[in-house]
Amino acid sequence: MRIDTKCIQSGYTPKNGEARILPIYQSTTFKYDSTEHMGRLFDLEEDGYFYTRLANPTNDAVAAKIADLEGGVAGMLTSSGQSACFYSIFNICEAGDHFVCSTSIYGGTYNLFSVTMKKLGIDVTFVDPDASAEDIAAAFRPNTKALFGETIANPALVVLDIEKFAKVAHDHGVPLIVDNTFATPINCRPIEWGADIVVHSTTKYMDGHATSVGGAIVDSGNFDWEAHSDKFPGLTTPDESYHGVVYTERFGKAAYITKATATLMRDLGSIPSPHNSFLLNLGLETLALRMRKHCENAQKIAEYLSKNDKVSWVSFSGLEGDKYHQLAQKYMPSGSCGVISFGVKGGRENAVKFMDSLKLAAIVTHVADARTSVLHPASHTHRQMNDEELKAAGVTPDLIRFSVGIEDADDIIEDIENALNAAVK
Ligand SMILES: *Cc1c(COP(=O)(O)O)cnc(C)c1O
Repeated sequence: MRIDTKCIQSGYTPKNGEARILPIYQSTTFKYDSTEHMGRLFDLEEDGYFYTRLANPTNDAVAAKIADLEGGVAGMLTSSGQSACFYSIFNICEAGDHFVCSTSIYGGTYNLFSVTMKKLGIDVTFVDPDASAEDIAAAFRPNTKALFGETIANPALVVLDIEKFAKVAHDHGVPLIVDNTFATPINCRPIEWGADIVVHSTTKYMDGHATSVGGAIVDSGNFDWEAHSDKFPGLTTPDESYHGVVYTERFGKAAYITKATATLMRDLGSIPSPHNSFLLNLGLETLALRMRKHCENAQKIAEYLSKNDKVSWVSFSGLEGDKYHQLAQKYMPSGSCGVISFGVKGGRENAVKFMDSLKLAAIVTHVADARTSVLHPASHTHRQMNDEELKAAGVTPDLIRFSVGIEDADDIIEDIENALNAAVK
């Protein structure tokens, strides 16, 4: 199936006489006829549902669709993008371990990695995503277990050179984990470029209508954990909490996802509600259509902004002069995403005036939604960072993150024009 077809058809195939639309299994538990049967499920000896914290048919169908869209072998849903990012690392790192991460990432992920995970004894080194492979390699240590980056960084819109990152990771015997939230699998499939694990905040384009917070992890099945067994004992040696199961032996290419479900979901429990997964699935059905419109609108608006003398700079990889145009052409030839960042002349003060003068575009802590929305990262998502950290993350104090919706582009442009006229005299 081609990607537009997968958006509609993947994940759920009803049998004769069953519901055409993915049912919402709003049930915490599942019934069995024998004690013995249920016992086999607990030992991971048989596939089957028994408790929704571990697995649920609605959640699984949507996870399978996302895995198929990304070209992975297995996927899991989480209750948020934050938990997806956390699990993706925590599944293979424990106290005393270390990982390397691009500086240009979502503010929430930055906090999670640099503050909260440090408290768990897991250390991180941030590297400039534009640095040379040698400089990125210099951040690796003997206890490094993963490399992490975002396809298109939120909000700096830095495009990741996925092949460069994959090579450095693989040279050091660790997986590359890529957060593909902004590009979505419609525009980029990181696995095709060497990523081993893909994570998402499904809250954004995948849901697309701002109804449900959620996340996903997809396993490419390509990373050879056994070849680096000394680094990943959690996957390659017996798990005493599951009667000595060895994930790579029992589950092969799905070892990583199975371990994440069997241990992290069991113990930490960040599951989405089946109802939210149902809504996410509706969003996924139109993902390909919406992404095309987001990209087309964003291109028009970025071109408009780049010609406007009240705007000091525009960052959008669809613009020919953009620093990341070439990388975007390589990894996302049919469009990157609908998010543009730009600076209003007059710095922070005029940026705030501009935001307050918009009528159609709404100030919301949200992005990548059908409705045009706008945010000032320095006063909102990234406000915990000092100026130096902001700079390293590619966020200047005047940066406006403008998330172009799927309305008529001319209406959005009129709104911007009126607000610019009110803000910049
Ligand atoms: C929003 C976002 C997250 C966090 O996801 P939530 O669903 O809000 O928890 C992680 N990564 C990126 C790139 C995001 O945009």
